[in-house]
Amino acid sequence: MNLHEFQSKELLEAYDLPVSKRGIIKELGDIDKALKQINFEKGCVAKVQAHTGGRGKVGGVKLCKDKQNVEDFVNEWLGKQIVTNQTDQVGLPVNIISVDELTEIDSELYMSLLVDRAEKCISMIVSQAGGMNIEEVAEKNPEKILKFKFKGGNETDVSDLKEIAQSLNFTDDQKKQFFSIVQGCIKLFVEKDLSLLEINPLVVTTSGDLHCLDAKINIDENALYRQAEIEKMRDPSQEDQREYEAKKHDLSYVSLDGNIGCMVNGAGLAMGTMDTIKLYDGDPANFLDVGGTATKERVSEAFKLILSDKEVKGILVNIFGGIVRCDLIAQGIIDAINEIGVSVPIVVRLQGNMSSEGKTLLNNSGLNVIGEDSLMKAAQKIVELVK
Ligand code: GDP
Ligand code: MN
Repeated sequence: MNLHEFQSKELLEAYDLPVSKRGIIKELGDIDKALKQINFEKGCVAKVQAHTGGRGKVGGVKLCKDKQNVEDFVNEWLGKQIVTNQTDQVGLPVNIISVDELTEIDSELYMSLLVDRAEKCISMIVSQAGGMNIEEVAEKNPEKILKFKFKGGNETDVSDLKEIAQSLNFTDDQKKQFFSIVQGCIKLFVEKDLSLLEINPLVVTTSGDLHCLDAKINIDENALYRQAEIEKMRDPSQEDQREYEAKKHDLSYVSLDGNIGCMVNGAGLAMGTMDTIKLYDGDPANFLDVGGTATKERVSEAFKLILSDKEVKGILVNIFGGIVRCDLIAQGIIDAINEIGVSVPIVVRLQGNMSSEGKTLLNNSGLNVIGEDSLMKAAQKIVELVK
């Protein structure tokens, strides 16, 4: 689960890490109150809050001299979509804007922590060439990207970091600040079950201090059960709406770019089904595993979910009935079609537990559903039909 920048900064603050003071704007009327939260003498930085980086490059981060600048920014962005090089073409809705106290910058660095699964440790990446072009630096000047692995468990031994601090050309005082930032970040990372903590830029201010100017946090979804405070920070408006709906019904759903909707039970079979569609030059619109204990209601929800994707031009249902009963799946399909009305072709393959009963139900339903016994034929058929 991702957090907004302002939420990430609240967490950093709670761990005594240096972040800018900020005010939050959710509607035009919030501007005065938000500006009162900060020292606005020299102006501020208005920042679009959305689950994406690359905001600066599309005007989503702006230095404002006065209140008029802030009002213009809020009018320009609030209620709009932000499209960056990290989003799709639709972008993400802008419902929140932050106004951060202005920081005077000398240089911009990059720092991030992530889980290194292969080494079973936390890894840190730092670079002196931080800021908005870090992806380009990684590509063209990989030698400017330094990596460090915290192999001694969660204990951070500062002496290990001395070499890295040296190569970042810090003064003695900056080194001390760097060590305490890294230690604070590690503590936050471990205690809050993060999978990513990225500070880009970590800046050296004109007065020579280190300061976290931007923060991106991702929390391990599987740990949310013990991070109730963080779970409350979830902003569904920033998530794929279908994936969010799917989660509520306990369905594993991932949106894809194609036009053939897939409803399958079992993750392996779902992947096999997508591969088979690809084999016949088709493109799956989604991955969807309805699970081994699919009920009629869940199948119906799954069907609605697939159809809410306007790109879907046909549906392939591939069910192997082991625990799940094919007749219940068939009834779920019939109910969903009757409820929402479906105009796209549907190919259904039912095999296993109660499959002949399922097929009979579909045949007698009077609905335009094509039954196939083999997955190869079913995939070939749906690809033909959507073309
Ligand atoms: P991103 O583009 O989404 O990663 O947003 P950032 O929060 O990283 O902001 C983009 C850029 O805006 C930073 O790299 C800085 O150069 C600039 N910026 C952000 N906050 C400040 C600030 O307080 N003062 C100054 N001078 N520049 C800032
Ligand atoms: Mn940034």
